[in-house]
Amino acid sequence: MLDSGGAGAKRRDMSDATSLLQPKPWISGIAPYVPGKSAGADGRPLVKLSANENPLGTGDKARAAFRAAADDLARYPDPGAAALRQAIAARFGLDPARVIYGTGSDELLHLAASAYAGPGDEVVYVRYGFAVYEIAARRVGATPVVAPDKDYATDVDALLACVTTRTRVVFLANPNNPTGTLASREEVARLHAALPADVLFVLDQAYAEYLSPDQEDGGLELAKSAPNVFVTRTFSKIHGLAAERIGWGYASSEVIEALHKIRAPFNVTTCGQAAAVAAIGDVDFIANSREHNAKWRAWLAAEIENLGNHGLRVVPSAANFLLVLFEGKVTAEMMNARLMEAGYIVRWLPGQGLPHALRMTIGTEEETRGLAAAIRAALEG
Ligand SMILES: *Cc1c(COP(=O)(O)O)cnc(C)c1O
Repeated sequence: MLDSGGAGAKRRDMSDATSLLQPKPWISGIAPYVPGKSAGADGRPLVKLSANENPLGTGDKARAAFRAAADDLARYPDPGAAALRQAIAARFGLDPARVIYGTGSDELLHLAASAYAGPGDEVVYVRYGFAVYEIAARRVGATPVVAPDKDYATDVDALLACVTTRTRVVFLANPNNPTGTLASREEVARLHAALPADVLFVLDQAYAEYLSPDQEDGGLELAKSAPNVFVTRTFSKIHGLAAERIGWGYASSEVIEALHKIRAPFNVTTCGQAAAVAAIGDVDFIANSREHNAKWRAWLAAEIENLGNHGLRVVPSAANFLLVLFEGKVTAEMMNARLMEAGYIVRWLPGQGLPHALRMTIGTEEETRGLAAAIRAALEG
């Protein structure tokens, strides 16, 4: 019988209303993503080497396209991002109908987990994998399964050993963040070949543009033919468009169709689409960014390795950052504090099982030289 709400009816005490609201238990279990900081505790701006952004900024062509597109802000963006899909497809020899775009590749990673995993299912990734994978799994009620690493690198056999009949999605960032390590084309192919056909293999190539041609992992080639491979890319890293939040992905028509059903409508802005189209065509900016990164990554790694016997170790990196392990008297926490005092913010990762490590983005020449000097001063001081 309907409660008429009359004098005899029990009324909820409205002060209790918030305590009655309960997020789903799998949502309550999520530890929020921690973004890279850009200012010290006192608000002082610091040299930000904590979010793997492009130290050369945004290319002139992308910036000009962004500005031109800003003339018409009253209309919704192209919901199908046709020009963007066309530009990506032309650049990589892909079918534009199978290119999907997201509000950052983050959205695409979440879509993959949402479409293919749920309560009772398992989502597998390596220890020291990208922090978003755990959130993407938990958000849909799936169980994250973490495979052991091999001295910070991806261990394909360990990953495969974690795959069960409940596994629905395997995430692999290649190069990986926060370690910077690269799984070879052979290892990626071997992993895919051994995965059951009902497991979606999400190959997150956020840093692929930093690789030399001989390092490429063959992911897009796999995604062209395999029904269960989803490759994701981003405009946030080498393309210098992190502020616009644009990512893209490639997979079979079936996978792309499923993901389109659940992505947000109008998920990539007009200015973002225009800037991304220009960015992907700006081959000089991309090449300069890659060369700058390779040069100063090698320089910084050598500087750190030559610091003497302080227990610092650089994990071999194929990305635009270095993971530095602190295995001596000076801890990563101490170094992090000293660098912050010196005006540099890097990424200390205790929440990701790496309290003994700092991830350092390769900055401009001046920033990189300054960082190396600050590290040296902190060890000697
Ligand atoms: C930075 C990063 C991304 C994506 O970032 P978006 O800005 O959301 O495109 C995805 N995966 C990894 C491994 C990253 O480091």
